[in-house]
Order: sequence, then structure tokens, then C-alpha cells
Amino acid sequence: MTAHLIRGAQLVDGTRADIRLEARRITAVGSGLDAAGATVVDADGLIALPGLVDLHTHLREPGGEESETVRTGSRAAAAGGFTAVNAMANSNPVADTAGVVEQVQALGDDAGYVTVRPIGAVSQGLQGTHLSEIGAMATSRARVRVFSDDGSCVADPLLMRRALEYVKGFGGVIAQHAQEPRLTIGAQMNEGRLSSELGLAGWPAVAEEAIIARDVLLADHVGARLHVCHVSTAGSVEVIRWAKSRGIHVTAEVTPHHLVLTEDLIAGVDGAPGYDARYKVNPPLRAREDVEALRAALADGTIDIVATDHAPHTAEAKCCEWPAAANGMVGLESALSVVQSAVVDSGQLAWSDVARVLSEAPARIGQVDGHGHGVVEGAPAEVTLYDPNASRDFAVTDLAGQSQNSPYLGMRLPGRVVATFHHGYPTVLDGAVVDDETVAARAAETVAAHAAAAREAAR
Ligand SMILES: [Zn+2]
Repeated sequence: MTAHLIRGAQLVDGTRADIRLEARRITAVGSGLDAAGATVVDADGLIALPGLVDLHTHLREPGGEESETVRTGSRAAAAGGFTAVNAMANSNPVADTAGVVEQVQALGDDAGYVTVRPIGAVSQGLQGTHLSEIGAMATSRARVRVFSDDGSCVADPLLMRRALEYVKGFGGVIAQHAQEPRLTIGAQMNEGRLSSELGLAGWPAVAEEAIIARDVLLADHVGARLHVCHVSTAGSVEVIRWAKSRGIHVTAEVTPHHLVLTEDLIAGVDGAPGYDARYKVNPPLRAREDVEALRAALADGTIDIVATDHAPHTAEAKCCEWPAAANGMVGLESALSVVQSAVVDSGQLAWSDVARVLSEAPARIGQVDGHGHGVVEGAPAEVTLYDPNASRDFAVTDLAGQSQNSPYLGMRLPGRVVATFHHGYPTVLDGAVVDDETVAARAAETVAAHAAAAREAAR
């Protein structure tokens, strides 16, 4: 096992330190650490963040391998500074049984770039009628703790109640895609003046807010944990703020794109053509007032975390007329830069807050063991080195996954992930993703070493 010594990084509290990684742990943090037996990584000018954790990633495998696989999605995650992702259940077959969630987790272990935690479906086949095998998934080797029908809202209030009651028994959480289905039939973009002008069917804010209001009341009634996916409206923020003030166990996420992009992009701005389907996403891009409310809610803690909703699609699914195009954007590789531009450069969040909303809190909500413990002595060796002073025109070459449906291509973005360490080894180094074979071989090695150590400890 090789040790790594990160030399002269800036910690999130602003102090400068060396960080030694060895045998999957951060074994020392301090100045002037001995580099004996270690590979030295120069981190002058770089911020050391705890490895990022995404609570909302679509890896598409099984069944959607033409747009992403567990391996390619894991690679995209590492490129973005992530060391763990939670894989959404809307694969094909749906992750609604122990067999599928164990398969997804095993594919993640084999790829080795990040910890892959499968999310289980709430309902069988995401059909919204019968509960899935929640207990079997929870007790499987994948130990699923987050359940979601993301993409489809659990619209039936009785099914939602039963799901909350079921997960309460083992401390799980229901992550809801809040979209009242009958209020959003045929919806193509945010409902408002612009949707009328463009002649596109509207997706009204109330369709999100009404479900969140119902769900926080149900969560309160049952005494269970609710997590609200991709909050997109100012009104939703108000509902969540009210629920938290009442002590209801609700947490919420916002995506990077809802922190910066607005519906005006659909009409075309600055001479860009309109109806560019890269901006088609669900929930839709909203108005400037919503963006401002979401930023403020992230800053004051009403919204707990940033989650990417990384949603890869093939060119065929996105390069077509607006109504026919698929919803979704890739977001793992750009997340940290977008968060910096939206809320760090504006002074609303400090880097310690970024560590909280992109690592510590998502790890806690998702119960992702071995992540979110900060860059401190004794913590797992999950570290991201980030250069906040870099700047780049975001390009296809910045994408490390299989699909290229990023809304940021051609935009100037601040910052760059320089290195990512997972289980103490680099998955990204000098800004380049380490190759699949090296990462997979190291993953197999560390898993074997870990198992041997566990056997030794058990003797
Ligand atoms: Zn969703």
C-alpha cells in the first residue's frame, strides 16, 4: 500500500496544512509532515474538500447503457470531485428488488472510482400502486436506506403514507420527486408569461408545492423522514421553511442548474437560438426570483444539500424538437464550478459550507458510510483538491461520462477539480481522470486488503 502526502493544501477553515493518506485513512493533518514512503502531491493554492457525495445520480445501468453505465457515470463523478454517489432507481429493470440493488452496488465496487449506493424504488416498477420490496432491499448486501420513485412522483397519498411508515422502522428515508401529475399533464416548461408567449404547456409551481405540503404533513403524522428532491420554486422553500420550524423531519436538495439557469434560456438569450433541448429538465428551469430564493435557502440551511440530478441522455434523445426531447442534464463534472459561481463567489457560502452541502449533509441523509467526515485525522481518505482560481470555457473534453447533454458547454466556469482521492488513492490526478484499468485494479486490491484485515480482526 502506498501512502500519499498532500503538500500545502488550504483547509476549509482557511488554514494551510499537509495531509497524509495511508491505508484508506487520513493518518495526519498538520504542517511540515514527513513525506517518508509517500508519493507527494503538491497542493499549493488548492482547497482540500472532503470527497463530495451526490444523493441524486442517474447511472442508467441496468438497461440504459447507451447513455451511461455504472463505470462511466462513476468516472464522471470522480472527475467532478465526488467519492460517493447514490444511484437512482429508475433503471430497467427498475431497482425494486434486492437482486437489482446488489447488482448496481457490485458494478460500482468493480469500477472502483466512487462508492455507489443504490437507491431503491418506492413502488414496484415505479408504477405508484404497490410498495416495492423495501424490506428485502434494506436487509440485502446493499443495505439500502434511501427510497425514491424519482422521475415519477409518489402521487397516491396512501402509498406515500405506507412507504413512510415502512422506512421508519429501520431509519430509512423517502426521497420524493414532487410533481402533482394531473397538474402537469403535457408540461413542457415553467408555467408563466414566457410559456404563454412560446406556446408551450406550463409546469406550474403549485404542482411541486402542493405535493411538498402534503408530504411534510404526512411525514409529521407518521413521524418518519422525508427528503425533497430538486426543489425548484420560491414557494417550495417557504413550505419547507415552515415544516422545519415545526420540527418536521424533512431535508431538501437543490440542483446546481436550478441555482444558476433560468427559463429565459429556452427563448434564447444573447443571440443564442431558442428551444435548445439541453435546457429541458424536470422540474423545469424557473424564473430569476426562484433562483434567488433557492440560493438564499441554501445559505440559511432551509435547503440542506446540493445534489446533481445527473441525467445522461444520448444525442438522439436530446437533439430533436423541444416537445420530443428527453428531460435531464449531466451535472457531475460541472457541479462544484457551478456552485462556486452561484453561491461562493457571491459571498453567500464559505468553503466550509460547501463541504457541508456537498459532502457532510448528503452523506448523513443518505447514510453513506465512510464519507462526509471532513478532512481531519482519522477520517476516511476521501479528499478532493480544487483550484478555485482556475477558469475555463466548459467543453466536451471536461465531460468524463458517456453523454454530453451539459447545459454549460461553451460557458465560462470558475474553478477546476485537480485531484480526487477515493480509499486513499487518486481517481483524478493533475486534472486528468485515472484510467479504468488502474482504478479497477486498485479497487480490487483495497477490497481484498480490507477483507483480510477484517478477517484478522475477527480471529
Ligand atoms: Zn426527479
